[in-house]
Amino acid sequence: MHEPKFKRVILKVSGEALAGDNDYGIDQKTINLIAMQVKDVVKLGVEMAIVVGGGNIWRGVSGSSKGMDRATADYMGMLATVINALALQDALEAVSVDTRVQTAIEMRQIAEPYIRRRAIRHLEKGRTVIFAGGTGNPYFSTDTTAALRAAEIEAEVILMAKKVDGVYDCDPVKNPAAKKFSDLDYIDVLNRGLGVMDSTATSLCMDNKIPLIVFNINQHGNILKAVLGEKIGTYVGR
Ligand code: UDP
Repeated sequence: MHEPKFKRVILKVSGEALAGDNDYGIDQKTINLIAMQVKDVVKLGVEMAIVVGGGNIWRGVSGSSKGMDRATADYMGMLATVINALALQDALEAVSVDTRVQTAIEMRQIAEPYIRRRAIRHLEKGRTVIFAGGTGNPYFSTDTTAALRAAEIEAEVILMAKKVDGVYDCDPVKNPAAKKFSDLDYIDVLNRGLGVMDSTATSLCMDNKIPLIVFNINQHGNILKAVLGEKIGTYVGR
């Protein structure tokens, strides 16, 4: 087995990735498979923190488009990420991965509050840390959370787990002629408006030189391949 390329990584798991083939909710089989993949990486001694999304349960923009106050709708979205985080913690612990959930909005009965130094300490002790509750602020996304937390804990890379195997010039589901990029500059993602992550998150990664690897999480073993430095999906950097 090769040596891992990275010592500390952030895995961003969108809500969509947790829904499996469904449009919403949590698919237990999918979440169990993700947990197994995380276990394979943690076993190598790689420190992994996970940022979970909430789009499989609630998205702030959908609520506000129906007339709800945007900030309220966004707080609901942040709560949705906590539900996903607890489900992921449960799946990880079922395969004996020591896990802590930290929330950006205090919920002390169910999780620790987000404390940067404490999160780093957990990672150093080999525990997987799940960051829930987004940034704790409305008008942001969990992609931005991944970029922010990666900068804070000095993660070397963000592994962007998607349901597609990289970044395409247009939607590969709608257009079979869509072209996949193997490497991209952050600025190209911004200029072309590619749907890798939102522009706030991309700018944060660009300014702090945090590379991204965008890959399909449904192909078993892909998280391990990414950590070992095998070329998968699309690399965004420079
Ligand atoms: N959200 C927020 N602030 C944050 C992170 C998330 O307000 O810092 C809300 C926002 O409403 C968002 C929802 O939480 O729509 C779910 O997060 P996101 O859409 O990023 O989840 P994903 O697309 O990764 O499933």
